[in-house]
Amino acid sequence: MDDNRISQHESVRKIYERIKKDGMTNIWDRYAAQGFGADPDKRCPFCQAGTRCDLCSNGPCRADAKIDKRGVCGITADGMAMRMTLLRNVMGAATYHYHTDQTVKTLRRTALGKTPFRISEPEKLKTFARRLGLDTLGSEADLCLRLCDFAESDFNRKYDEPSRIVDRLAPKERKGLWQKLGIFPGGIHGEIMLATSSCLTNVDGYYLSLALRAMRLSVAMAYQSQIVNEYCQDILFGLPRPHPMRVDLGVLDPAYVNVLPNGHEPFLGFAMVQLARRPEWQEKAKKAGAQGLRVIANIETGQEMIQRWTMDDAFYGFTGNWLAQEAVLASGCVDVFVCDMNCSMPIDPIYAEKYKFKLVPVSELVAFEGIKDRTNYEPDQAETQAAKLLELGVANFQERSKNVEPVRNLPVREAVVGFSPESILASLGGTLDPLLGAIKSGSLRGVAGLVSCSSLRDSGQDVHSVRMAKELIKRDILILAMGCGNAAMQVAGLCAPEAKEFAGPGLKSVCAALGVPPVLSFGTCTDTGRLADLVAAISHALGDAAVSALPIAAVAPEYMEQKATIDAIFALAFGLYTYVNPVPTVTGAPGLVKLLTQDLPAVTGGVLSVETDPVKAADGILAHIEANRKGLGI
Ligand code: SF4
Ligand code: SF4
Repeated sequence: MDDNRISQHESVRKIYERIKKDGMTNIWDRYAAQGFGADPDKRCPFCQAGTRCDLCSNGPCRADAKIDKRGVCGITADGMAMRMTLLRNVMGAATYHYHTDQTVKTLRRTALGKTPFRISEPEKLKTFARRLGLDTLGSEADLCLRLCDFAESDFNRKYDEPSRIVDRLAPKERKGLWQKLGIFPGGIHGEIMLATSSCLTNVDGYYLSLALRAMRLSVAMAYQSQIVNEYCQDILFGLPRPHPMRVDLGVLDPAYVNVLPNGHEPFLGFAMVQLARRPEWQEKAKKAGAQGLRVIANIETGQEMIQRWTMDDAFYGFTGNWLAQEAVLASGCVDVFVCDMNCSMPIDPIYAEKYKFKLVPVSELVAFEGIKDRTNYEPDQAETQAAKLLELGVANFQERSKNVEPVRNLPVREAVVGFSPESILASLGGTLDPLLGAIKSGSLRGVAGLVSCSSLRDSGQDVHSVRMAKELIKRDILILAMGCGNAAMQVAGLCAPEAKEFAGPGLKSVCAALGVPPVLSFGTCTDTGRLADLVAAISHALGDAAVSALPIAAVAPEYMEQKATIDAIFALAFGLYTYVNPVPTVTGAPGLVKLLTQDLPAVTGGVLSVETDPVKAADGILAHIEANRKGLGI
């Protein structure tokens, strides 16, 4: 298979060869097998256009807008495509919020002294509580409990009771617009109910109202799920602050016991690092014949961890994003794969059998065929559960070492990680002025929030993401990277200071002056809400300019799953120029396509771009930024 269809990264391509030699099923071959004929990207034209529905027993139905062919119930192609988009968003919102629920539960139990964690950022606790309008008097524990009560009561507000969290956190200009459009949300649980029931057969078949419903859900999700989640995780585990981190598959050393927390929730990962840093755990690993015990950060759980905690020999480094999963597992270096609520593939048991590692779900959400043992995360038991997972790793070491030949000499490099609004502000001397000054002077044309996954559609893992990033920084656009796309940037070397050589002259001078890379590693896809908060601060600093008028764009060069689709819808509701690739499954819906790509600027200020060519796509983003600069008179 052509290298560009496999991965941007040499490490993944190398392990792909091993997987092939071992005759293992793998994501690249399975992707190709789904294609029609010899074209791996060609699928059923109705499915690809978003005009297929099997919600009820009169289906499956196919719609064709050109001849007004509708589903049996009478729904149009536009209605079908938007309804399926909304259903994807419901899944995304629910899953984001599951994580948030677990975080709030962990914060509550920590405040009561029941977990191995502590309140790491009392200042953040106070500032966040103040922003939510809470009384900040009393002990830290009391304030935590007040914050948890407030958040949970907001999540549980009815859909027709406006969310106090959104009211307190969103920019004034957006709130007014969302109220006018009827998309100012209530509590997230009520919004999920409202959105899901709208999608039932013969309830709402009108693409416009379904689109508004999707935006409303996305606003609830960004503020109640994403921001509350990330800020509570900051309070517990620390704010992201810039520091170096080893990345790429070379962080896997077969001579060590390697335990990999994987998914999105970092709780057991952090609990394991706390233990692995103790000499007695290193001794246990050495007694088993290993050189030591390491917790290796993986996918988004790993991303949550590396943004906040620095590396050492026990917390050694970060592998990459979800598409590298089979490569990680086939490295012959993994002892335990610890799977929380997202991003563990159904294929993993077959890899566990072949490459002799233990596969352990640690969330009630996660299940695998043939895997019975599990440890559902409970905050009160986090330390015991973490110890059990590490014991499994130590006990597995000999079995794995005797039976699996590891892949050696994989590449490893350093990335700078840990940018957040607070740390960006701190590195700018406590004010956004240097950043705004660079934008105003024109050295920096604008900022792109890259929130992306990784997908095999049209090209291999991270290939399009890296091309897009290089095109943007070449045009003096600073990138803030989130999600699995952030891992793409880290592993490709774009989050290292030397990457300024790829940047245009203006951005290069800003990087040199501030000592930062041209791509700032900003977190996970859950940090989209945090980015919205930073954008709100920039809008405020520019005299409360409308979000849609700022020289800022959202960029998703390789979106993949349902959490990503709701992020894109939020970016549109927030008023951003939103670049999305691959082309979403809406092309058979002309009314919806017109809404997203032409009419939306007059509604929310947002607009969707789906250009597949990276040069033209980057030109489109720059044109939008330049038009906004002109509008602002800069
Ligand atoms: S809901 Fe409508 S379009 Fe969907 S399967 Fe039933 S009849 Fe067909
Ligand atoms: S939504 Fe995308 S970025 Fe987030 S974890 Fe899933 S694949 Fe990664």
